[in-house]
Amino acid sequence: MRPARALIDLQALRHNYRLARQLSGARALAVIKADAYGHGALRCALALEPEADGFAVACIEEALALREVGIKAPVLLLEGFFEASELELIVQHDLWCVVHSLWQLEAIEKASLARPIQVWLKMDTGMHRVGLHPRDYQAAYQRLQASGKVAKIVLMSHFARADELDSNTSNEQVAVFDAARQGLKAETSLRNSPAVLGWPQVPSDWVRPGIMLYGATPFDTDQAEAARLQPVMTLESKVISLRELPAGEPVGYGARFVSPRPTRVGVVAMGYADGYPRHAPTGTPVLVAGKRAQLIGRVSMDMLCIDLTDVPEAGLGSSVELWGKRVLASDVASQAGTIPYQIFCNLRRVPLVYTGE
Ligand SMILES: *Cc1c(COP(=O)(O)O)cnc(C)c1O
Repeated sequence: MRPARALIDLQALRHNYRLARQLSGARALAVIKADAYGHGALRCALALEPEADGFAVACIEEALALREVGIKAPVLLLEGFFEASELELIVQHDLWCVVHSLWQLEAIEKASLARPIQVWLKMDTGMHRVGLHPRDYQAAYQRLQASGKVAKIVLMSHFARADELDSNTSNEQVAVFDAARQGLKAETSLRNSPAVLGWPQVPSDWVRPGIMLYGATPFDTDQAEAARLQPVMTLESKVISLRELPAGEPVGYGARFVSPRPTRVGVVAMGYADGYPRHAPTGTPVLVAGKRAQLIGRVSMDMLCIDLTDVPEAGLGSSVELWGKRVLASDVASQAGTIPYQIFCNLRRVPLVYTGE
């Protein structure tokens, strides 16, 4: 059996969820869209359900999969419905629904619903992706109230630059939000992971932590609260081949690495078809036999090479951590010019193995 696999530590997931709640003093929807950022949404939801205030997903397909395995907790659709016909399922499965556009508001007004639904009314406070214009917000709120189709409305917005701790944009977005919601007596939801960790002054009755649940930092610099997160995924495999090269020999496609000295090369069963980033350059850290070593040459589809010259105790069958508790996914991601969100979501082919139930 191919030794590549991803261990998912559910105990660490629960730790990170509790940290989100503790840091924010708010109720927390665990964001498990995109298959829980590659960690397996069903298992993650089942592990969190006894204590979670609810979950957030990207679409009704993801929500229905949770209901099918018996998740009874609230589930928020972060982009609401994509077609009005989904409203019936939203009622039937008791889902919470973001309204981010006027066409959605109109669809709710026109629909005949068996029961009123809970709506999270989204305001565009500066990200300019989705959300109602602040100027239209109060009117939209009143229309929803008047429609008779809505049980409760939560006021929400989303930060564009909360991961930049020295940017003032988040404060400006809060000011826009507060001005446009004046007089509305309703709960609020603003904070994503970077805002839970780095913007404690932002009020938010509900927080929406995603990446922090999985133990990766959203920041590209050290941050005290992010240092308290526990990595959930360990991507690991084994050394399947060894060779000793003299100085001056190329390794891998395109001869992107040429040995500068006599070099002991280990070949690891892990490649870009597993989601390991192809753009990770020579020097990207790995852990082998408990010691740090480096990727060398180009990552190929099913294999990659590492330099074992300074790790003589490593050999055939040695365990390799590509990322996990010692080699941080955020470090591998930044080496490859991307973010931990993407390298988690790109994971495929490797079996997920759950621990810490
Ligand atoms: C994905 C998402 C989140 C979670 O973001 P993180 O940065 O992973 O915490 C929160 N809110 C909305 C609207 C999202 O789409």
